[in-house]
Amino acid sequence: MTTHFINNQRVAGSSGDTIAVLDPSDGQTFAHIARGNAEDIRRAAVAARAAADGGAWSRLAPLERGRLLHKLSEAILAHHDELWQLEMRDCGKPVKQAKADATAVARYFEYYAGACDKLHGETIPYTPGYAVMTFYEPHGVTGHIIPWNYPMQIFGRSVGGALAAGNACVVKPAEDACLSLLRIAELAAEVGFPEGALNIVTGYGHEAGQALADAAGLDHISFTGSARVGTIIAQSAAKRHVPVTLELGGKSPQIVFADANLDEAVPVIVNAIIQNAGQTCSAGSRLLVEASVYERVLAAVGERIRALKVGPAAMDLDVGPLIRANQLDRVNGFLASVSESGARVVAQGSIVVNAPAAGFFAKPTLIADVSVDAPLACDEVFGPVLAAMPFKDEADAVRIANATEYGLVAGVWTENGGRGLRMARAVKSGQVFINNYGAGGGVELPFGGVKSSGYGREKGFEALYGFSVMKTVVVKHG
Ligand code: NAD
Repeated sequence: MTTHFINNQRVAGSSGDTIAVLDPSDGQTFAHIARGNAEDIRRAAVAARAAADGGAWSRLAPLERGRLLHKLSEAILAHHDELWQLEMRDCGKPVKQAKADATAVARYFEYYAGACDKLHGETIPYTPGYAVMTFYEPHGVTGHIIPWNYPMQIFGRSVGGALAAGNACVVKPAEDACLSLLRIAELAAEVGFPEGALNIVTGYGHEAGQALADAAGLDHISFTGSARVGTIIAQSAAKRHVPVTLELGGKSPQIVFADANLDEAVPVIVNAIIQNAGQTCSAGSRLLVEASVYERVLAAVGERIRALKVGPAAMDLDVGPLIRANQLDRVNGFLASVSESGARVVAQGSIVVNAPAAGFFAKPTLIADVSVDAPLACDEVFGPVLAAMPFKDEADAVRIANATEYGLVAGVWTENGGRGLRMARAVKSGQVFINNYGAGGGVELPFGGVKSSGYGREKGFEALYGFSVMKTVVVKHG
């Protein structure tokens, strides 16, 4: 689809240039998208402004806005097959994951549909003779920069919340994977979204993405992606005093105490690192284990990792391909450094023999004895690589858990309730799971980071506050 989507129409890019889209399962080009630039972003921002400021979108009652979001949710479910198949091919997601993502984006719009008419302000007791009330108002036009790892899900959580709060949106998806989002924007137009409420401009990050971050006429920017680019976005927005939500990377610890129920913990620990081939911001990529059960946990996790099969998305195996060649090089670079770092490879899964040679396949790998300050323990690998290390006691577990620049999610496994809560309070992260682990958890759960994992919250009702501005109105009635 070599067009943008602006004002409810497919629109050719102003340059006419395109970008090839590869299928990660075989490395072959299967589509092209428009290579957007600053002019395309400007057009989308103008369209959104016309919808937002006194336009058709802003005039809708919250109830009607909610009904449209609900219709979009239903349309997504009605096109579930088409959408998951697009996402599978575009991202290299195994069938089960692609289906789950298509279901999740519908669920985001369903959740936020019900929230539109429930975002209300307060009255505040003040000086006699005055009445004070607060209103949550939309920012106006919000910009959304989306990564390639979960295009539909992240679109749903970010754009769903922004639309529910009454904003009109300009979206710049990732150049690697954006086809499903163009289709969802078409569905929004079909179910009756007014022109300009939802606009999509495709293209490279340093071109269309940078143009969005720099664009006049945007009132808020939500960025999901790497910490490096998050800094660029925040700097650009700061020049115009535009608020920003940053959903960045993670190096999330899964912390296992000796009293943990290992039968429950081990499968969840493995899933938390292999889901989406490890290309998940909240992947549980560090395994911290109390020393007395360290070897036992390594053996149990290793046994499962060894059994994992990697192959093309359509084969729906345990793990699909990585998104592109340089991501595979990056993961293999980390693996090549293991032996000289003093760590050891405990187990690896296998790539099926009939996997296309040009696909971007990485073997799931468990690495033990990783030192706390090694790149494998500190840097986001963004692949199916789990770095394990022992800890002595609770205080040591907290120290190691907090020893990276990130703070997105953590998992704690213990049968001691007090310790679970103490750990949850002591670990610096946006979410903590005790005796379970969900990559970000359900739609209802506020999500976001601390430290270099970013700031602001998406998901849940909390997101609506970030996508709104509070206005205080003071009336003197005597
Ligand atoms: P990335 O930062 O390279 O790209 C993300 C998006 O930003 C893409 O749309 C890209 O085109 C755009 N972009 C790149 N350079 C830009 C620039 N100069 N100006 C404006 N936009 C630009 O990240 P990625 O490699 O696509 O995604 C992986 C990263 O995203 C990981 O760090 C991962 O942890 C993070 N992530 C975080 C969350 C979260 O919710 N916290 C969710 C998913 C991914």
